[in-house]
Amino acid sequence: MKRSAARRRTKLFGLLRAFRDAAVALPDALVAVDADYRIRWFNTAAGSMLGIDYPRDLDRRLVDAVAIPGLKEWIDGGGIDPLSDVTSPRDPELHLSLRLIPYAEGHALLLVRDVSQLLRVEKMRRDFVANVSHELRTPLTVVHGYLDLIEPEQIPEFESIIRELRSQSRRMTQIVEDLLTLSRLDAEETLPMSRVAIRPLVTTLHRDAEGLSRGRHTISASIEGPHDLQGSSRDLYSAFSNLVSNAVRYTPVGGHIRIVWTSNAQGGRLSVIDTGHGISPQHLPRLTERFYRVSTSRSRETGGTGLGLSIVKHVLQLHDAHLEIESEPGKGSTFSCVFNPEQLLLPELVSEES
Ligand code: ADP
Repeated sequence: MKRSAARRRTKLFGLLRAFRDAAVALPDALVAVDADYRIRWFNTAAGSMLGIDYPRDLDRRLVDAVAIPGLKEWIDGGGIDPLSDVTSPRDPELHLSLRLIPYAEGHALLLVRDVSQLLRVEKMRRDFVANVSHELRTPLTVVHGYLDLIEPEQIPEFESIIRELRSQSRRMTQIVEDLLTLSRLDAEETLPMSRVAIRPLVTTLHRDAEGLSRGRHTISASIEGPHDLQGSSRDLYSAFSNLVSNAVRYTPVGGHIRIVWTSNAQGGRLSVIDTGHGISPQHLPRLTERFYRVSTSRSRETGGTGLGLSIVKHVLQLHDAHLEIESEPGKGSTFSCVFNPEQLLLPELVSEES
């Protein structure tokens, strides 16, 4: 009996050691914490990534032992979403992603990954797209310029070809411009913010819609609420006009389009409402992906690049705002840009009088 108990114990110890050795050997950092977020155990990678030492930091509270800005707020908030792209306190070149995983009553595991390589690849991808777009810009301008010099009517046998060439080179130019806009927005963490007066903006959007529609739709605009926006005027205009252009392009002749601004103490909302083709629910979550289209042919026929809603999403993210989409196939769609109260400004007296 005694001998078999001893054998079992040795086997269990062996297993425990193997588990511990495996955890120690992991390239990811692991820190086991108790209910007070005090450090109970950590592996070698945790030492080098988080700058904690054995035995000095055992039993210390995680927030006292690990010098990462925002760590306390993240833990106080329950650490539900990963804390992404933080710099290692021991090596500023190291970018980390932190996850908190509860595993037994009152225990949690802090899992830390080195995401530097991932971020480098992501940056390479962004730079590549930006460089390709930039390189394409000049040759396209030249092609476009020469095509504009040719009068299709003067060469009747090539008339349709020249018109097609012009339309395709315009489309390519637009794709390149949209990709450059996206690259710029991708690289920005904040935008230069100033007062964006809503009344003239809505008037311009209304005029743009009339221009694009050329009398094929009924278009109206309204403003309910006193506020202006705090934001980047160029980028907000670009986002809103993408929604207006979509409403015109995806609404058949005779349809209605409304541009509505509403604001109150709870926030602001710019909606573009159309009675167009509408979108089936399964497409809605993917609409803001680059080059995602419900119907490629319909998008191309109307001069779409497949990048408009992606631009809208990026611009709104940089304004702490988000896009809401409601749509019913055959009935129409409502695209709303929703802003927090912090982005709203009450009108200045001067602009009231002028
Ligand atoms: P595109 O240049 O193709 O219009 P967007 O990114 O602006 O690209 O839009 C993505 C897709 O979402 C479009 O291809 C279209 O299928 C759909 N979509 C966008 N706006 C509307 C709308 N108002 N009504 C119906 N479909 C829309």
